[in-house]
Amino acid sequence: MIDDFHHKGQRQRMVEELRAAFRFDERVLDAMGRVPRHLFLDKGLEHFAYRMDKCLPIAAKQTMSQAFTVAMQTHLADVQKWDKVLEIGTGCGYQTAVLAELGARVYSVERQRELYEQAARTLRKLHYGDVSLYYGDGYAGKPMLAPFRKIIVTCGAPELPARLMQQLAIGGRMVVPVGGAQQTMMLAIRRSDAEFDVTSHGECRFVPMLEGVVELLNC
Ligand code: SAH
Repeated sequence: MIDDFHHKGQRQRMVEELRAAFRFDERVLDAMGRVPRHLFLDKGLEHFAYRMDKCLPIAAKQTMSQAFTVAMQTHLADVQKWDKVLEIGTGCGYQTAVLAELGARVYSVERQRELYEQAARTLRKLHYGDVSLYYGDGYAGKPMLAPFRKIIVTCGAPELPARLMQQLAIGGRMVVPVGGAQQTMMLAIRRSDAEFDVTSHGECRFVPMLEGVVELLNC
């Protein structure tokens, strides 16, 4: 797994582009400047890793979110050091690594076994072994580990996922794309047991949040 001066240069350029595109929290940009994004992709796609507006194919017909989207979700969640963060949709594990770089305690759920296993391998190799990864249906969240300070959903939910909202700490923030073909990035902040402030933050496009799990195919 090589991360040489060439990759570091490309990464720095991506961070500068992100900085020019939006006033992201500098801590988020610093964290993204440290994660070798190309190492979460197949070799043939490494070349595109540092384009901020490309979502790229990963295994199981899923996608790695655009760098811009990862920055936006992390920024909106306002992740602080030691925050207990639940991520739904580990995918290749890139967003997971960014959260770990911010010093969060990360719990991430993936419904595709193939991706869950691949992400576990990549994150371990890159020394993000402290994150807790789970193979399961993210609709259920992780009630035994709740409450979470932050919840980041990286797949498009048809509506605000009620069971996840109940796992948010008071004052906690959940960032989730909501909709079908047209999706909107939503931020829900829990004000009390029953009250949430919900705001929308632009159009987006994610693979859908689906129910149940997908086992490995035996072939
Ligand atoms: N955070 C990832 C984004 C991956 S795409 C990254 O940085 O690359 C979204 C992922 O959500 C896919 O891997 C998909 O399998 C997963 N997903 C969809 N519905 C899910 C569910 N109900 N529970 C857990 N994961 C889910």
